[in-house]
Amino acid sequence: MTLGVEHFHESTPIVLVIDDCADVHRLLTARLCNEVMELVCETSAEVGLERAHQLEPTLILLDLDMPGIDGFEVLRRLKEEQSTSEIPVIVLSGLQSPNDKVTAFDLGAVDYITKPFDLMELRVRLRSALKMRRLIQMLAQRAQIDGLTGLWNRAHFDDRWTEETKRAARSSSPLSLAIFDLDNFKQVNDTYGHPAGDAVLQGVARLIQKIARQADIACRYGGEEFAVIMPDTTPEQALNLCERIRAALDETDWPGKPNRHITISAGVAGSEGPTTIGRDEWIVQADQNLYRSKSEGRNRASMTKVNGAGPRLAEAS
Ligand SMILES: [Mg+2]
Repeated sequence: MTLGVEHFHESTPIVLVIDDCADVHRLLTARLCNEVMELVCETSAEVGLERAHQLEPTLILLDLDMPGIDGFEVLRRLKEEQSTSEIPVIVLSGLQSPNDKVTAFDLGAVDYITKPFDLMELRVRLRSALKMRRLIQMLAQRAQIDGLTGLWNRAHFDDRWTEETKRAARSSSPLSLAIFDLDNFKQVNDTYGHPAGDAVLQGVARLIQKIARQADIACRYGGEEFAVIMPDTTPEQALNLCERIRAALDETDWPGKPNRHITISAGVAGSEGPTTIGRDEWIVQADQNLYRSKSEGRNRASMTKVNGAGPRLAEAS
């Protein structure tokens, strides 16, 4: 199962240098070539800002004294914009006055290096800022992981679902949502105790994670409820995946407890392309399908297409 920090994608950090002096670029490119980072250099503040939005670099090295928009203004704009506000900025400047330093820090710079700079010093400060950035990202990500199962938690689901519905609406691409609920889970807790119940939740989470594909977003939705967001997935494909999860759980032997048979019900709502349905209404439809699965005998998955087609059922085998 994907657990905790393994969600974290370790990619080469991208450092964007915005400085009007080409010599600085040449120097940095030559002297930082052994560092594990990709250096992207821009000499204009305007283009630098554009690159920052487009690349979302790991860190920005920013000159203050530039023609046109100066570094302070670049910093201000970076911090105003949601997509760039979290990127750490190290100011690289020939301006030495304490006022400039105070202003830069007030605007949100994480460090201030005066020119001419010592390359050793720049290197260690850069490493330290990159490390801090990584730790902060890991912490933020941990806060979105469910402690018991290692799946994404409800907070992450809420964020991602909003994002994915918007993305699907923009690109008219398919999108599906499945909500799962363990059948008669209260009986497991009542009969075997809560530690056994927790072990079942962990086992089911592992199974969902194993069957779900790389791009699927598997979450613990509530107590014994799970949700899987399936980008670029038609309702039929989603139903198929749910059916595989349902069948795999149906066939699972729980160690030491031969009589324990755990089953799950699922409700799927999906769109094949353009849709005008809102994010919440979509969840309501998945929920309604889940309740239909329950009322028709549990251990089954039901699906509807959110753009209007009638209900389709996948019966338990
Ligand atoms: Mg300059």
